[in-house]
Amino acid sequence: MNIIFFGAPGVGKGTQAAMLAERLAIPHISTGAIFRAAIQSGQELGQKVKHYTDNGLLVPDELTTEIAVSALNEPGCANGFILDGFPRNLGQAEALATALTAAGRTIDRVIYLTAPQAEIVQRMLHRGRVDDNKEVIQRRLEVYDQETSPVLGFYRATSGNVVMEVNGLGEVGEVQERIVAALTQ
Ligand code: AMP
Repeated sequence: MNIIFFGAPGVGKGTQAAMLAERLAIPHISTGAIFRAAIQSGQELGQKVKHYTDNGLLVPDELTTEIAVSALNEPGCANGFILDGFPRNLGQAEALATALTAAGRTIDRVIYLTAPQAEIVQRMLHRGRVDDNKEVIQRRLEVYDQETSPVLGFYRATSGNVVMEVNGLGEVGEVQERIVAALTQ
């Protein structure tokens, strides 16, 4: 199954995507995690993206798309994948659609996780990531509203009924069961 996790920063995509990836035995591809690992290990990619991630800005599309698409083309993704944090704007969504079409693949589900903004901000403040201070959180939420949220409309318009809205509030296991149910709906 080819799945996209969609939703605001801090809504729980990373936790839920990791659990589901284990359950379905398919790779979890998080562009944010790839960037953080590259920064931590001092790779050239890390140097290129640090300014953007530190400030809650989107890493340029060309770089991000190349990383996501090459991860999808790995043999491990033959039986499916979970994308988390990609695509994050319309340009990325279109580039992904082109790459998938070229490979004869489609997206089966977009899991749209939701939670009230006040809850999301509290979660991020407790997560303790370097980009989780008040100012950067605010920027990431603005970027989400302006650039990322239109991606939902893209999938609703192009892929019909693949988008499933899932309430992200509650126990981690409870949310996971809602997601699993949404996959077969
Ligand atoms: P995340 O772990 O998904 O919250 O991502 C952390 C940071 O990585 C974001 O604030 C962006 O700076 C960067 N990033 C992750 N995914 C993308 C993407 N698809 N496009 C651009 N930047 C991204």
